[in-house]
Amino acid sequence: RQRKSLSRWEGVCSHRSLQQEVQVSCSCAVSITGASGGGPTYHTIQSVFCCCCCCCTVQKRATRTKINVDTDADLETQYSASQSEDSYAPTWKCKRKKKLHVKNKPLPPLPAEAFADYTKNLKVIALYDFFARGPSDLTLKQSEEYIILEQYDPHWWKARDHYGNEGLIPSNYVTENTKSNLETYEWYCKNINRSQAELLLRQKSKEGSFVVRDSSQQGILTLSVYSRSKGSHGGDIRHYQIKKNHLKQYYVAEKYLFSSIPELIQYHQHNAAGLITRLRHPVRSITSSSPATAGFSYEEWELNPSELTFMKELGRGQFGIVHLGKWKTTIKVAIKKINEGAMSDDDFMEEAKLMMKLSHPKLVQLYGVCTRQKPLYVVTEFLENGCLLNYLRQRRGKLSRDMLLGMCLDVCEGMEYLERNNFIHRDLAARNCLVNAEHTVKVSDFGMARYVIDDEYVSSSGAKFPIKWSSPEVFHFKKYSSKSDIWSFGVLMWEVFTEGKMPFESKSNYEVVREISAGNRLYRPHLASHTVYKVMYSCWHEKPEGRPTFAELVETLTDIMEMG
Ligand code: ADP
Ligand code: MG
Repeated sequence: RQRKSLSRWEGVCSHRSLQQEVQVSCSCAVSITGASGGGPTYHTIQSVFCCCCCCCTVQKRATRTKINVDTDADLETQYSASQSEDSYAPTWKCKRKKKLHVKNKPLPPLPAEAFADYTKNLKVIALYDFFARGPSDLTLKQSEEYIILEQYDPHWWKARDHYGNEGLIPSNYVTENTKSNLETYEWYCKNINRSQAELLLRQKSKEGSFVVRDSSQQGILTLSVYSRSKGSHGGDIRHYQIKKNHLKQYYVAEKYLFSSIPELIQYHQHNAAGLITRLRHPVRSITSSSPATAGFSYEEWELNPSELTFMKELGRGQFGIVHLGKWKTTIKVAIKKINEGAMSDDDFMEEAKLMMKLSHPKLVQLYGVCTRQKPLYVVTEFLENGCLLNYLRQRRGKLSRDMLLGMCLDVCEGMEYLERNNFIHRDLAARNCLVNAEHTVKVSDFGMARYVIDDEYVSSSGAKFPIKWSSPEVFHFKKYSSKSDIWSFGVLMWEVFTEGKMPFESKSNYEVVREISAGNRLYRPHLASHTVYKVMYSCWHEKPEGRPTFAELVETLTDIMEMG
C-alpha cells in the first residue's frame, strides 16, 4: 500500500502473504476447579495445550496469581529536525523579491548556496484549512503552498506561508507539493475502499464522476467511474485497474499509454477511449470535517479546564461520565470525567503523553488531559455516531455486507497502526470502537485497561473481565500481545457480522473457557461469507504465532472487499 511520505513518519510496513489455510487445533482438555468464598474467587485452571507438531505441555497455575508478562514495548517516536530556519530565511526573501521586481530592474544573481538551501526545504500543499489555535500556530488555507522549516515531531511541523508568517502546523493537514504526488490532485482519494468509492460516487450521482484510489494490490491504483448509461436506473459504477506495461507506461485501455497517472487522467477527461464514459467530475474524498490533530498543539497535553465547555452527557463507562463539550468554543470534544478511585491516575498521566503521539485516521485521538483538579478530565476526539456496538444494533437489517466488511477494515487499519508501534490494545471489542459522522469506525480506549482500578474487571475471574474477547494465553496467563489483540479482533468481526450479538450468548465466563479450551469456536454468522468467516477463524488459532498479523489482515480484507 502506498503511504504518504511526508505526513506519515512511520516506515512502510512489510507484508507477508497471508496463509489462507486455517489450522484447527487438535484435542485439548481443560479442567477447572473453583473455590469461592465470600471474597474474591480463586480458580485453578489446569489446561493441556496440544498441537500436532510439539509435545504436550501441562500447565497448572492459579489464575489469581499476578504475573507480569506484559510485552508492551515503548512506543518509538523519532524526532528529527531538518534544518534551521536561519539558513532558509534570506533565501525566501530573495526569491520573492526576484519575482516582484522581475518587470523592473533585474536583481543581481543569487549566490548558488542560497538556491541549494531553498531546495532543501520541503514544499507542501494544504489538504484542509487549519485555524491557528494559539500564537505559535500558523493558519493553513486549503490548496495553498507552504514551506516546511522544521519537523518538531511526526505530527507538528514549523512552516512558513507566502507572506513570511511562520508557525506550527499539524503534519497530517499537508502533503508534499510535487507533480508526482497524487495527493495534490482532487481526483485522488487515498484511503478509500471499493464500497466507500461507490458510496461517494452515488452521492454525487453525476455522469462521469470519478475517483482514483489505492487498490488492494501494492502500488496499483483503481479508477472508479460512475455513469448513467442507458438502461441502468441507479447508475453504473465501473472499477478499472490502472495498469503498467514493461516500459513503465500507464494505461486503462491498452491502446492509450501515458508516462504518468496525471497524464492518463487528463487524457481520459477529454476522451472516453474505451471507458464507460469520459471522466467529467473528480470527486473529492475530503469531507467537510478535517482530521483530528495529535493534541491541540505541539507537546501540550495539559489543557486548561476553563477552555472546556460541557454540552450534554454522552454515556457512562468504567471510569465515569462522558460528556460532549467544546474546546475554546470551536472544537467538539468528548470529555471523560474520571471518578475518584476508578483509575491509577499517575501511571495514566505518564502514559498519556505517549498516547497523544498515537495519531491515525482510524484511532480515536487523545487531545489532552486536565490533571490539576479532581475529577481528572480526559479529552478526546468526539464521534457523532457513538459506540459501534449500539450503532450495529440500531441498524440491524439495514447494513450491507460491504458496509460490515468496511467497518472491520477500518478497525483493522487502526489496529495495524498500533501493532506497528508495538502498542497493545488489551480490550478490543465493538463496545470500545466509535463511529463518526461519515460512518468511519475508529478504535478507542487503547491501552486503558491497564489503568482500571476494579478487581471485577482486572482479575480474569472477575465478572467484568472480557473473557469472551480473550485469547487462551490471556485468560490463563494474562499474556497480552498484538496476537492477543488479533484474537479479540476476530471476535469483533463476529460482533460486526452478527450486527451486535453477544458472543457465546448467555454462556458464563467459566463455560466459555471450557468451550475454547476444547477447541470450539464461535459459529459463522449468516451475513459472513465463508471467506470472511475464514478470516475471523484464523484469528482464533490456539497458539499466538498461528494467528495472522494486522498488516496481513488489512491486505486480506482489502482483497475481499475488492472482489465485491
Ligand atoms: P469507558 O471506556 O470509560 O468504559 P466509554 O469510552 O466506553 O467509557 O464511554 C461510555 C460511552 O460514552 C460510550 O459507550 C459512548 O456511547 C460514549 N462515548 C465515549 N467516548 C465518546 C466519544 N469520543 N465520542 C462519542 N461518544 C463517546
Ligand atoms: Mg470503553
